[in-house]
Amino acid sequence: METTAVVGAGGKAGLAAAVTSLARLTDELAAILACSPDASERGARNADADPLRAVAGSCLDGLAVVARIEAVTAAAKVRLLANYAQAVDALEAPAKTAYESSAREMSLVAEVACALTVGERAASALLGEAHALTTSLPAALDALHAGKISWQHARIIVDETTGMGIAGAAALEAHFLDPEAPNAARGAAPGELVPARFRRKVRAWRERHHPESLEARHAKSVEDRRMEYSPDRNGMAWVSLYLAADKACAIWNRTSAVARGMQSPDEPRTLTQIKADVAAERLLGNAGHSAGSGPSLKADVLVTVPVFSALDVTEEPAELDGYGPIPASMARKLVADGAGSFYRVLVDPRDGAPLEIGRTSYRLPESLKRWLRMRDGKCTFPGCSNHSQDNEADHLNAWEHGGSTGISNLGQLCPKHHRLKHRTGWTPGPATKNEPPAWISPTGRKYNAEQLDREPTLWPPGCLPEETSPLEAAIVDYLIAC
Ligand SMILES: [Zn+2]
Repeated sequence: METTAVVGAGGKAGLAAAVTSLARLTDELAAILACSPDASERGARNADADPLRAVAGSCLDGLAVVARIEAVTAAAKVRLLANYAQAVDALEAPAKTAYESSAREMSLVAEVACALTVGERAASALLGEAHALTTSLPAALDALHAGKISWQHARIIVDETTGMGIAGAAALEAHFLDPEAPNAARGAAPGELVPARFRRKVRAWRERHHPESLEARHAKSVEDRRMEYSPDRNGMAWVSLYLAADKACAIWNRTSAVARGMQSPDEPRTLTQIKADVAAERLLGNAGHSAGSGPSLKADVLVTVPVFSALDVTEEPAELDGYGPIPASMARKLVADGAGSFYRVLVDPRDGAPLEIGRTSYRLPESLKRWLRMRDGKCTFPGCSNHSQDNEADHLNAWEHGGSTGISNLGQLCPKHHRLKHRTGWTPGPATKNEPPAWISPTGRKYNAEQLDREPTLWPPGCLPEETSPLEAAIVDYLIAC
């Protein structure tokens, strides 16, 4: 009952209307499919008309209805998200501190992310978009509900009205969605433009009508400078340079390490900003500043090499921690060159499980930490892809509550999910030697842990895998001793 009051008549009525529209559209789709001439009855139904043409036509009709169903579904999703956020907010007493309020926000986002099986960034964006559409963009939400624009179009409107204020957003909406508005958009309706074209139109309008000058907006955008790294196919990666994975990964890790070394209480820039500055200075040859103030740190990367690949008898790919599979030759080169910043990890040929961390690196490995990095690979929170380098080893069952420091009581958490665990009702379940923990949400839902899909090593031709092979044991002993 309270929920009704909280969600409000508009939200409830909107959802009911969406359900009615969906029912009507699915009936329409069913009717289209029923009329589509079936192969068996083609001849009997209409000897004159081209049956294939009729099939093609009904497929397109069906697609158009499906597109409208998708739009109405998106509108329903928007209302559900907004109502959920409102309901959760109303259920709790007002937050007393900013700390408490940010923890609640994190928990809310995490729950939506898990329920929809999307990343937290996507969930947070969805909640933001739902808030904008239900509060300041009523015409865009109506158009979405009516199937006049797609979800992509709606997102573009949300995106391009960010920072324009209520009046600016209303003016943009009116220009594109109200044909009666003075100087309304001409030509194809927004829903008839592919999203990329629609965005160009909207952006052009925004640049002209934004209440704040481009100069001022640029100054603010500079604050968002950052360096990005993304693994790609075929042993390649981008750091906005398309490079071999080992080089890209090393650039990324080195820059991160230098930037972390430059952080101090007097440093006004964020880590993300410093990282971008360090990379830019180095590329532009202005290395004096960063080289002078940053300690020369070596970034460490784990390279998992199947035993037989390391011996050059198979070409099975190796695994670069934080990147993924790399060619065996690249891994062999890394190991052979004795690159100080790479830790070699051998895997058990029988099941692909990590066997031993190489001892050839520049400092003694903290074996348990590294084992954890091998097992978890990233933050163990569902959907989080925060990579191991910045993460903390955390006791799943706290030390003071009798938790041990064994591998099955440890889990890797990024700083953000570490805070989430301590501040909210999210709890990790137990782990095992080879499995990261599952998570239980504050509502009691269980979200299973992601696990690496390790596979048994490829064996060289003429060599049969046995349970206890003296040859294998000898190879393993030899390699560990190296
Ligand atoms: Zn995380």
